[in-house]
Amino acid sequence: MCGIVGYIGTEDTKEILLRGLEKLEYRGYDSAGISVLNEDGVHLFKVKGRIAALRDAVDEKVSSTMGIGHTRWATHGAPSVDNAHPHQSASGRFTLVHNGVIENYTQLRDEYLKDVELKSETDTEVIVQLVEKLYEQQGDVTEAFRTTVSLLHGSYAIALIDEQNAEKIYVAKNKSPLLVGLGDNGFNVVSSDAMAMIQVTDRFVELMDQEVVIVQRDGVQIQKLDGTVVERDSYVAELDASDIEKGTYPHFMLKEIDEQPFVIRKIVQEYKNEHDNIKLDADIRKAMQKTDRVYIIAAGTSYHAGLVGKQLIEKLAKVPVEVHVASEFSYNMPLLSEKPLFIFISQSGETADSRSVLVQIKEMGHPALTITNVPGSTLSREADYTLHLHAGPEIAVASTKAYTAQIAVLAILAVDTAKAKGFDLDFDPLQELAIVASSMESLCDQKEEMEDIARNYLATTRNCFYLGRGVDYFVAQEGALKLKEISYIQAEGFAGGELKHGTIALIEENTPVIALATQESVNYSIRANVQEVVARGANACIISMEGLDQENDTFVVPKVHELLSPLVSVIPLQLIAYYAALHRECDVDKPRNLAKSVTVE
Ligand code: GLU
Repeated sequence: MCGIVGYIGTEDTKEILLRGLEKLEYRGYDSAGISVLNEDGVHLFKVKGRIAALRDAVDEKVSSTMGIGHTRWATHGAPSVDNAHPHQSASGRFTLVHNGVIENYTQLRDEYLKDVELKSETDTEVIVQLVEKLYEQQGDVTEAFRTTVSLLHGSYAIALIDEQNAEKIYVAKNKSPLLVGLGDNGFNVVSSDAMAMIQVTDRFVELMDQEVVIVQRDGVQIQKLDGTVVERDSYVAELDASDIEKGTYPHFMLKEIDEQPFVIRKIVQEYKNEHDNIKLDADIRKAMQKTDRVYIIAAGTSYHAGLVGKQLIEKLAKVPVEVHVASEFSYNMPLLSEKPLFIFISQSGETADSRSVLVQIKEMGHPALTITNVPGSTLSREADYTLHLHAGPEIAVASTKAYTAQIAVLAILAVDTAKAKGFDLDFDPLQELAIVASSMESLCDQKEEMEDIARNYLATTRNCFYLGRGVDYFVAQEGALKLKEISYIQAEGFAGGELKHGTIALIEENTPVIALATQESVNYSIRANVQEVVARGANACIISMEGLDQENDTFVVPKVHELLSPLVSVIPLQLIAYYAALHRECDVDKPRNLAKSVTVE
């Protein structure tokens, strides 16, 4: 969470930093700031709120050719101007931005900074005060920075500037993402992700944990903590600048919902060989054949995709699967099987909760596969294998196209494993996914119906229930999450049969209940559950699948293979959440209290 940018070059910095921060705003948006350095010294601009407010606060007349910036998702201290980054040392000489959590900040404060009056409530300020304290003792900025980094425990991506040296930005990272971008003519940049700086360069260098990097106008030096210099090649980020623009769409979320048919087609294309069969890394195939139990680790929407993935893998490949919430896994670790294979699902590939499980299971010597939208991400680098989602950048905080891409890739993995095990399948996944893509397209063309459902059922309600059985239950959970995260309506996804064991007590006159009916085996039982809530006053909306539909169903999705039904049944739920949020005048792309790419545990 939170975004960092830095620039050192020849152009005026303010605009480059502000534009970069606008692109990173999805990572956190409760406060923001930039610091630029020129011959008059450091100029600091900070606001509570969005980058637009920061833009207004920045003094147009201050020009500079180097600086750093930050957009925050608060972990320590409320969103406020004092707690906003950049933070400065006591004398004002050092200025720093930070993404992450310093776990030992109270110990560091008590041990090194007893005589320093801290100006904020953040863990971050301790870092910059420590640099100054150690500089006073050691007399060398690089050494003081390196020593500071070696004392930090926790997650951090940091960038520091020294008022007395306009030639260097000091950078380091541990567990939090940070890249250095290389400019061709006398400039270099620092950024939490490549997207934020793709307007100025497409050439990037990955940074590893526990490295210290000195970024100058004409070069970048990577050092280990002992000072040894490390050489590393750059790579070209394959990002299209238009992918990160809204174009004619009012919101990224709507654009990303509409992109789903293209994403599914792209996945089919990427995972197909010249004989129209599945193309998959042979090592992944072997790992799937070898394992006696798959453990899927994920959070939020990815966790919901994992639940669907469990069903696909178990039904098709006959491998037992457990799905775990990443943040709970370490505390509630199940007894592992003899030959476990871990699958990490993460849109950003930076989810800190998942990463801590990855570190733990790697120490135990178990193999790991990451399914992510960002191939060079931490979870991808640190796992043995990666499957790429090919969904393109997802900017809206509420995930849509990454969810469907995750399910599509899990389906391909399940089928590939089944085939490798010699099972006969009456199911060509690439063909079925092509049908899914067309069905998605027709659903995306029916936005008015979704808008009507949102208006009729959700305009004024305080709460809403989503019901489903079988795989529909998992989609119901995702539908509820979508609704609550962007419209703030309290929503719960329930197994149809479970409601009567307690929660049905919450059904009142006009309580909206959205039920999914896409599975033949449970079509009658889910409809019976709907009758139970209608009898108690609920305002029921049934979304069924062609062939299983009945008179008076509210909406019918096109028929696709039953195992892939989540890919189409989720689209009305995404759109209903979108329109409900819109009617309630919520900030659809940047819902309150949230941020994308959850890089803190
Ligand atoms: N822990 C820092 C703070 O609360 C940084 C949080 C972030 O990564 O956005 O200010």
